[in-house]
Amino acid sequence: MAMDPDEDDDQVEWVSYSSAGYGSAEEGLWEDVVPADSPSEEIDWYDENPIEGESMIEWDAPPCPAPLGIAYLARIGCCDFCLHRLGGRRTDATGAEGGAALRKEAERRDPELAHQESSIECPTCENLLDDVDNVSKIISSACDGIQFSTMQIGVHIPKDLIEEEDRIRSRYGAPGSKPLKAAFVEEVQTSTSDKVEGIEFVRERPDLMVLIDTLTLRVDVDVRPVFLYGRYRKLSRGIPQTRWPCRACRGRDGGCESCESTGLQYPDSVQDLIGKPIAEQMDALDTAFHGMGREDIDVRCLGQGRPFVLEVKSPKKRTPQFASLLELVESNAKGRVEIDSLRLSDRKEVARIKQTRSEKSYTIRFKPESIEDPEKISEDIFALAGTMIEQQTPKRVSHRRADRNRVRQVVSVDRVDIDGDEIEMTLRCEAGTYIKELVHSDEGRTIPSVTSIIGAPCEVIWLDVEDVHAD
Ligand SMILES: [Zn+2]
Ligand SMILES: [Zn+2]
Repeated sequence: MAMDPDEDDDQVEWVSYSSAGYGSAEEGLWEDVVPADSPSEEIDWYDENPIEGESMIEWDAPPCPAPLGIAYLARIGCCDFCLHRLGGRRTDATGAEGGAALRKEAERRDPELAHQESSIECPTCENLLDDVDNVSKIISSACDGIQFSTMQIGVHIPKDLIEEEDRIRSRYGAPGSKPLKAAFVEEVQTSTSDKVEGIEFVRERPDLMVLIDTLTLRVDVDVRPVFLYGRYRKLSRGIPQTRWPCRACRGRDGGCESCESTGLQYPDSVQDLIGKPIAEQMDALDTAFHGMGREDIDVRCLGQGRPFVLEVKSPKKRTPQFASLLELVESNAKGRVEIDSLRLSDRKEVARIKQTRSEKSYTIRFKPESIEDPEKISEDIFALAGTMIEQQTPKRVSHRRADRNRVRQVVSVDRVDIDGDEIEMTLRCEAGTYIKELVHSDEGRTIPSVTSIIGAPCEVIWLDVEDVHAD
């Protein structure tokens, strides 16, 4: 995860906590799902076996659409649906009806076929197609009350059935026959469309992902998240950017005494002040917050604010009412956090804002041990503009970051005010500059520093991010 090293102090433990499972859990569910539209393999059966002599033994029939091929499939017990799917013959009817027509035709040629036992299980679908209506009913009731327009269906079929179906289809099926998985999904889609109005079936970025396990007929409906981009200003200190689990109980369900059962180290976070009212309006389960870097808990973030993407999880409503959302967030945060520039976003933008390294302007107030010559001090601080500074990993983060040197530029020094025995300065720096260390020097680990150039130890009083120069 790319983060500005100056902006995530102390917070890494809960970062890894809060992002645990992000991405992995949802992928796990789908990893063995083969896209329903996987093309059937080219069948070039003429090369496979010469049609003569002993090699004919397994070739008790030619492949469809030869009548003997269709008759063979009927004899081994293929259902009407599969007969049509593998038969490669155009009939007036489709699906099972079309298959029934093919069967009739085959029986006319070979009356013995008509005495075939009808209770036999279809070897190429194990009668899976009988479940289509049932499955689509389960899907339509699972979608009840959820706003969506696109759906993707994934299906898990036992491997041995897939292999057997593939073997029979590639040997006896007509070239280009639809594989079982694709055919089943298509049937489920048609049947679901009859029950739920206005669904569009897509192959990527659906609103709903439906996974069907054909063995248990279990249907999982995953409501995909909605992403919202915006910028936030944090006008009050003491608020972490994202939810911070209680240190004592690690945020376990129900919390503990020290967090008053909230599970949180701090009752508020930018994530929740913004995300709670949004999740409520969109009837969502939860949110994840992706900021373009972060500021320390005691640092405000002003100016145009910091870009973020809010991931709204499992929303039952997918069309946020932006105007009222801004008001809801404002009244929920009571002036501590504000947002604007809110718009729809996507998962790709999460990666973009995580990777963006933007210059930032800061205002920092600090107290030198002594101020002997204010004019000279001011001049020396202004002279930092344009200089490259070398920073060794700060002591306060060294327990979790590799010890190394980095070089960062002070882009500009815009203001130096000497106010009694304290100094306030506004400066703009390259991404990843440790600002507090630039002032107090971190015991000489930042060179040069305000402390080193004015020759007096400086104590930081507060820091604000004045602006994030991005987007
Ligand atoms: Zn079948
Ligand atoms: Zn606790």
